[in-house]
Amino acid sequence: MTYGFETLAIHAGQDPEQRTGSVVPPIFQTSTYAQDGVGAPREGYEYSRSSNPTRDALQECLRALEGGRRGLAFASGLAAEDTLLRTVCQPGDHVVIPDDAYGGTFRLFAKVAERWGLTWTAASIHHIDTIRAAIRPGQTKVIWIETPSNPLLGINDIAATAALARDAGALLVVDNTFASPYLQQPLSLGADVVVHSTTKYLGGHSDVVGGALIVSDDELGERLAYNQNAMGSINGPFDAWLTMRGIRTLGVRMDRHCDNAERVVDYLRNHKAVSEVHYPGLPTHPGHETAAKQMRRFGGMVSFRAAGGEQAAVRICEATKLFILAESLGGVESLIEHPGRMTHASAAGSPLEVPADLVRLSVGIETADDLLADLERALG
Ligand SMILES: *Cc1c(COP(=O)(O)O)cnc(C)c1O
Repeated sequence: MTYGFETLAIHAGQDPEQRTGSVVPPIFQTSTYAQDGVGAPREGYEYSRSSNPTRDALQECLRALEGGRRGLAFASGLAAEDTLLRTVCQPGDHVVIPDDAYGGTFRLFAKVAERWGLTWTAASIHHIDTIRAAIRPGQTKVIWIETPSNPLLGINDIAATAALARDAGALLVVDNTFASPYLQQPLSLGADVVVHSTTKYLGGHSDVVGGALIVSDDELGERLAYNQNAMGSINGPFDAWLTMRGIRTLGVRMDRHCDNAERVVDYLRNHKAVSEVHYPGLPTHPGHETAAKQMRRFGGMVSFRAAGGEQAAVRICEATKLFILAESLGGVESLIEHPGRMTHASAAGSPLEVPADLVRLSVGIETADDLLADLERALG
């Protein structure tokens, strides 16, 4: 029996608890477990860095939602990325990274992994030819993609890039944070690894930080699980429980995020204070056709450029009320930010630098008319 997405979100990994029948999986807030004899742990649980039933439940749910072989939950999205890089790469290896990506991901490559001996090339995710040109035969171990990308909402053709990666003997890693598995399932398109900041849409309520890796190969899953324990960047039991609680409503939340984002995009594209709107749902977006092919809908993230330049962009960010001025995204509440000075400040001066007049919206699930009125006030 195979279940649909919404059913898996509520039931995968979340059977009622054995002893009491507790419908909601309990929080196993423990660091260690009593053993029945020396070296004889019950059901394999001996220490919570190695395994914990609440984290196991979340990991199984994430695995099911992405259609993978193994899911692993980490302390944060970046902890997941770091564990992945140091598992599949060695000093001297090369990776192709997107020219538009989360600022913290870029910082991990450029300021941390590079010192460890990794080299990287930034390539345009829109153009498969620039990705192909960036590959160094024999040396490139990973092609890293974010789609839709943060903050410019660029779209990469996952299936085409997966074919390229296979030919090059490299792994295709897709950061699926912006889409969530409800809108897009990269493993089914040929990706090897899916990365999530579960802090965002999966958790969905801006109350917990976490990350995840989901892989399509058992052997790679085993190596990552080994390093998750060896490196220790695990998701704690309470955080795993909160994330799972968020995941149960992922489908209905994402549909409302998409509905509201479409209303906001319609409003912004006709506004004279806005020079350009970035949203993959717009037919004029260069990745629109690809997005329509590989995504269920186009998501809740929107960015736009202020016609009045950087000062106008900053003023807009400081003028909204319902759209709270804050970093992060994917929660039920709407957020607004200035990527150049906030989330992407670490990419200044790099190939990943973002336009100074850019404003990024994480469109929440409030009443759409209230969101439009809030933007109306701020845009003047
Ligand atoms: C936030 C984010 C990350 C990093 O995740 P953390 O949970 O903040 O460590 C990675 N990728 C994308 C696309 C993000 O938005």
